[in-house]
Amino acid sequence: MSEPRTFYVTTPIYYVNAPPHLGHAYTTVVGDVLTRFYRLAGYDTFFLTGTDEHGDKVVQAAAERQMSPKAYADEISNLFQSLWPRLNISNNRFIRTTDEEHKRVVQSILQAVYDKGDIYFGEYAGHYCVGCERFVTENELVDGKCPDHQKEPEFRKEKNYFFAMSKYQQWLVEHIRANPDFIRPERYRNKALSSLEEPLGDLCISRPKKRLSWGIPLPFDADYVTYVWFDALINYLTGVGYPSDSMYRAFWPEANHLIAKDILIPHGIYWPTMLQAAGIKPFVHLNVHGYWNIEGGKMSKSQGMIVDPFELSETYGVDAFRYFLMREMVFGLDANFSESALVGRLNSDLANDLGNLLSRSLAMVTKYFKGTVRQPADPGKEDEKLRDHALKVVDSFESDMKALGFHKALMGTWELVGHVNKYIDEMAPWSLAKDPDQKDRLATVLYNTLECLRIISCLIVPFMPQTGEKMWTQLGMDGSICDQCVKDMKAWGRVRAGQIIQRGAPLFPRRDPTESDGQKDSQTR
Ligand SMILES: [Zn+2]
Repeated sequence: MSEPRTFYVTTPIYYVNAPPHLGHAYTTVVGDVLTRFYRLAGYDTFFLTGTDEHGDKVVQAAAERQMSPKAYADEISNLFQSLWPRLNISNNRFIRTTDEEHKRVVQSILQAVYDKGDIYFGEYAGHYCVGCERFVTENELVDGKCPDHQKEPEFRKEKNYFFAMSKYQQWLVEHIRANPDFIRPERYRNKALSSLEEPLGDLCISRPKKRLSWGIPLPFDADYVTYVWFDALINYLTGVGYPSDSMYRAFWPEANHLIAKDILIPHGIYWPTMLQAAGIKPFVHLNVHGYWNIEGGKMSKSQGMIVDPFELSETYGVDAFRYFLMREMVFGLDANFSESALVGRLNSDLANDLGNLLSRSLAMVTKYFKGTVRQPADPGKEDEKLRDHALKVVDSFESDMKALGFHKALMGTWELVGHVNKYIDEMAPWSLAKDPDQKDRLATVLYNTLECLRIISCLIVPFMPQTGEKMWTQLGMDGSICDQCVKDMKAWGRVRAGQIIQRGAPLFPRRDPTESDGQKDSQTR
């Protein structure tokens, strides 16, 4: 079977009770990097992000500001929308759960599941975590508290509507077993499977309107509104025009959901069973990442530690910030965030290794050949080794990216950067330049260097769009990098003899490593 050529990626819709923090920025940058990569690889792509605007916490946050929930949601949602361009996020749509279209989709799915007999009215009593906005089971608690919110859940008892999730438990277990990449990385798949060893309860999907009116009314009972998860998760369908839009037919079920590990259960268990009940094919991948630890604590709005991603990207440059996030975190595992580590990577990987490579290569083309690329002569052993390495890196880059191994894809790219630097040192163009008989050899060494830089610019452009473009321009390549990469990334020899390089400013000015320490207090609030 040939692989589908469509790629649909989603971030969670972010809750509007606080402005965006580092965790939001990371997930959204991952979505953007994937979208740009698949676009270069020739796929039709769709990238959805947005805001989740209903529920108790929004009502509370609005009341604290003496605003209506809608006015409050508008304000925070606008903040998210206005900030993403500052991280160069190329989402196709920004969805809000207060959009009229979304309300209609939620109601149509509720009605369909209700008509099927999988939604019933009943009474429920249990431990409810306000932070998680769901009933939690005893074995999720640590010392009687929700581990994510460090709070004891409230005991609640009320009449509500329930989704007969338990009916789909066996189906889900079999689906996860039959599709090893359905939830990835593996640790989260195992976590979902182990929580499915317990009998799966039914899911409370409503709130009485008298207690919470800020929600989507149930189509079959006007006294109730939809419980947040049954509202929020459905955004992934609304986002591509469910049920009838051609977009929906093109992109569903090719959905890649990106989430942090705290919402594994709703996405890995509620969501596929909801889809199955509604007669909709499940998404292809749920991709789960870990937390950013800051000074030993969890990156969490409930614990109040916030690093401002927009301030950081302003201080160090959006590309350096994106590179750091993608290089430092192994997707699926927790990672440590520190500003000094960011400065370290900026100086070593970006300014020294890559930036210097480009500037010294272009300086030599200017000095020895007046800025014009010369025709290379027949390759020698070292030249072939370099070319083979470059082409091999493109292949492994592609497979690493598809497996969410972003740090590996970048490590592989930087091995090539290192190889080109070593090649220059060993070939010593400055010595070749002294000998008129070595003119062809000099042309060959510089050609191979530029050709590797062209390939490197294509590899890094999903991560660092501005830098990739700058490199492309400085190398004197024609057209836009994004149109050219697709067909040329895996080919050798696309730099043309006669093309004229355009030297520019250094890609990444070095930063003073002590500078970050002084700013720590203002960055970590
Ligand atoms: Zn909780």
